Amino acid sequence: MKALLSIEGLTVELATRERTFEAVSDLNFRVSRNEVLALVGESGSGKSMTAMAIMRLLPEPVAEITAGRIMFDGIDLASAGEAELRKVRGNRIGLIFQEPMTSLNPSIRVGPQVAEVLRLHQGLNAASARNRVEELFERVRIPDPKRRFDDYPHQMSGGMRQRVVIALALACDPDVLIADEPTTALDVTTQAQILETFRDLQASVGAATILITHDLAVVAETADRVAVMYAGRIVEETTTEQLFAAPRHPYTHGLLGSIPHLSEEAVPGARGRLPEIAGTVPALWALPPGCAFAPRCPRAGQKCTSQRPPLENVAPGHMAACWYPLGAPQ
Ligand code: ADP
Ligand code: MG
Repeated sequence: MKALLSIEGLTVELATRERTFEAVSDLNFRVSRNEVLALVGESGSGKSMTAMAIMRLLPEPVAEITAGRIMFDGIDLASAGEAELRKVRGNRIGLIFQEPMTSLNPSIRVGPQVAEVLRLHQGLNAASARNRVEELFERVRIPDPKRRFDDYPHQMSGGMRQRVVIALALACDPDVLIADEPTTALDVTTQAQILETFRDLQASVGAATILITHDLAVVAETADRVAVMYAGRIVEETTTEQLFAAPRHPYTHGLLGSIPHLSEEAVPGARGRLPEIAGTVPALWALPPGCAFAPRCPRAGQKCTSQRPPLENVAPGHMAACWYPLGAPQ
């Protein structure tokens, strides 16, 4: 399938007063129409920076793209000008953030907010924009959309507000949809409902979707393919099915709940189960010289602490960045 969005060698540098470091390093991935790619990883692994970089919404000059291309329909978004970006953002690429109030203006009624986007990007007049918004509200399952049109964001629950944000993201039938932890800020019941709505809608829109989440249950239910990030890099990428059935990177294995030690792999039944991965993500400005996961990895050998493993095919359609991937012949 032809990729609609192709990230090539994307690197994002952060320069704070104290230090300069890469929050995202040499990232490569592609997403096609009708496909959901999940970006997963612990907090601080660079997922949101990646999303912001694609939309060119990084907090510049603190964060800047220092290398790479973001190819979307023949345009390199990494070097596109502001006028070009404005045509893409919220129109051809829809965005859903974790916190709905990031996207909504608190002082404007929700219906007119969505209508404004339609008028701006699609040139609809007031009456047709209103009709289209009511339709959209119905599609995202906001009950009583005609009445809700005139609500202010604060008059709605968190879940309803996130439905408005989804309506906003889908308003212009985007080619690409980027959802950064779209359900994380909501209670569990609402999360499940919003996720279901999101899944149905993204399937009917057929957009190339990047779903950012730290929740593997969300991945299992929603994504076609998964890229696992650790310390600003992709460490494993494959289909959702393959990732859950046979993860190859010890970090992914850890996320899924158990990491067999190298020595234990040869001894059936001696698998050590870890409820979570011991240790913490290293500071991005003080990464160890080899594999960034080595200090936490039960399989790490000498090579791991001195040379960084490249992201390579370990099986057809399955890439991992590990010198000693799981399930490999030894
Ligand atoms: P994730 O979304 O995976 O949790 P982020 O992309 O938000 O991770 O963050 C990546 C790294 O960038 C983290 O180390 C984080 O502390 C740092 N970071 C994020 N935003 C800023 C900022 N505005 N200023 C400085 N550092 C930041
Ligand atoms: Mg984030």
